[in-house]
Amino acid sequence: MRIAIAGINHETNTYVRDETTLKDFYIQRGEQLFRLRSTQTQTGGAIDACERLGLIPVPVYLASTQPSGTIAADCYATMKAELLERLASEMPVDAVFLDLHGAGVVDQCPDLEADLVAQVRLLVGEAVPITAAFDLHGNITQRMADALDGVFACHEYPHIDMHERAGDAIELIKHMLEGNFRPTVQVETVPILMPTTTTFVGIGLALRQRMRELEANNADVIQVSFFHGFPYSDVPQVGCHVVVTSRSDAHQARLVAQSIGNELWQQRESFRALSLSAAEALDVAQAATAKPVVINETSDNCGGGSPGDGTHLLRAMLDADLKNACFGFIVDPEVAQQAHAVGVGSSIDISLGAKYDDMHGEPLLLSVYVKALHDGRCIMQAMAKGSRINYGKIARLQIGDMDIVVASHRSQTFDTEPFAAVGIDVKAKDYIALKSSNHFRAGFEEIAGTIVTADPPGLTTHHIEVFDREYATQPLWPVDPAAAYDEA
Ligand SMILES: [Zn+2]
Repeated sequence: MRIAIAGINHETNTYVRDETTLKDFYIQRGEQLFRLRSTQTQTGGAIDACERLGLIPVPVYLASTQPSGTIAADCYATMKAELLERLASEMPVDAVFLDLHGAGVVDQCPDLEADLVAQVRLLVGEAVPITAAFDLHGNITQRMADALDGVFACHEYPHIDMHERAGDAIELIKHMLEGNFRPTVQVETVPILMPTTTTFVGIGLALRQRMRELEANNADVIQVSFFHGFPYSDVPQVGCHVVVTSRSDAHQARLVAQSIGNELWQQRESFRALSLSAAEALDVAQAATAKPVVINETSDNCGGGSPGDGTHLLRAMLDADLKNACFGFIVDPEVAQQAHAVGVGSSIDISLGAKYDDMHGEPLLLSVYVKALHDGRCIMQAMAKGSRINYGKIARLQIGDMDIVVASHRSQTFDTEPFAAVGIDVKAKDYIALKSSNHFRAGFEEIAGTIVTADPPGLTTHHIEVFDREYATQPLWPVDPAAAYDEA
């Protein structure tokens, strides 16, 4: 049995100024996808599951990049055409697995996934099973789900189970090929703009456990996917979504989805995020006795589309003259290049960060010592474990009792590798600052004595009320008091 594996995976922040173009995407074709084998990624999990279950993975095409602005129409058209062309050349296939995000937005096409899935369905025909794995930050429509036989969002945020959910998607394909049934996928949208919420503690953890109970207690239910949604997106389908894949009973699947929708709505106040300014966060950090304190600047998270060059938190740390502290990292290719040009052991004057816009602070004019340099090529050690990541040239700069790590490519900090690459042992630090909303937890939870979230101005702030909404089709909690959910 030959299972085609393909996808276009992008989380689109429609509030980012610049469009995302073809040069921004990392595209893997054919056997290049096998480089993801044994990595804890969606495609890696799908390849591994095929091989474990005696199916033949047929790698086709995968385009992905960091979260960023709306995808240019010609960029998407080019990628889609190549994906479909390569898929057509592999036909006939027995099934298709798609590696998707769920929050892809193209200029003039607000639902990338619905468009792509419909085209794939048209190509392979009604009889061929198609399942897909998603990021739980997708904004999902019934239109998209109708073209799929199974929807499998990761359950965890940090997304440490992407490979496992992709494995579930492949298992469903195997069962469909062996048995005689056609699953149904039901989408229930709840008008909640959910701030980024980890599943490791609190309401996120409780809800994750509740979803698993519902899966276990309903024999017909194959998978309950709870999409937190992606609030930094001005599209009609923005919101939270419960997506239930069942063996046969659409009515029952809808009832399960609605019952969870009710629970989400009733508990919506639990999603309200604490928002501390940089100075307030540092006050909390300095009062904490359990060291090291990890301070995450959630509002400048490249993983949600921010530039990563914001200086609000770093400036506050310098003003507070924090001792035994490190910051890693801030994205500034010019400064990284400047440090690489002069080399280790030199002192340089820099204008660091805040070059993208005015929202993320002002550049920091500093005299720093170049302590260490690195090429930025790392292997992910926590989330997406085993996959390669390239941060571009990295520099470790020192000022006072602080180490500042500067990288060249936009990314959030997932684990301790960007620090370790330049010789920083984070366990020995009292303060570890980084830019990420929740993915960092996979790499820092065991190290952190305390975690404090800072939310100065930024494109991924918890203050989602600052973003205009032109296309939302219904009032949304918490930004609109008229928000209501029809509690079935
Ligand atoms: Zn996500």
